[in-house]
Amino acid sequence: MSNCVFCKIVRGEICARKIYEDEDVLAFYDISPVAPVHFMLIPKLHLDSLAHASEAHAGLLAKMLLLAPRLAKQLGLETGFRTVINTGEGGGQEVFHLHIHILGGGSIPPMVKRGN
Ligand code: AMP
Repeated sequence: MSNCVFCKIVRGEICARKIYEDEDVLAFYDISPVAPVHFMLIPKLHLDSLAHASEAHAGLLAKMLLLAPRLAKQLGLETGFRTVINTGEGGGQEVFHLHIHILGGGSIPPMVKRGN
């Protein structure tokens, strides 16, 4: 996708602080972190969102999910981390190239605050 910011990072047209790269996936730090460690894991293949994945992408999705804890550990998130996949406008997605946010370090608040 010529105009997709994450495809541009994959092609090297935009700089990113890369963490990991292989033939299928790329991990890089979020430009606007919301936690002491906040990085993105993306497939190199352009998929607009998780809702655009199919059976054909099962291996790729499994690879990403299995890689996430390895990378988190490498970056010092020994006690755990949060994964977030925003999907579609209704899910608050801003960049329409499938990505997993991986966040951790410091204190991570509950995702949902429940009132009394
Ligand atoms: P989402 O709301 O799930 O689509 O998240 C998109 C994320 O991409 C945001 O957290 C942005 O800070 C991040 N982002 C946007 N542009 C870049 C970039 N050039 N390099 C790294 N992260 C980016």
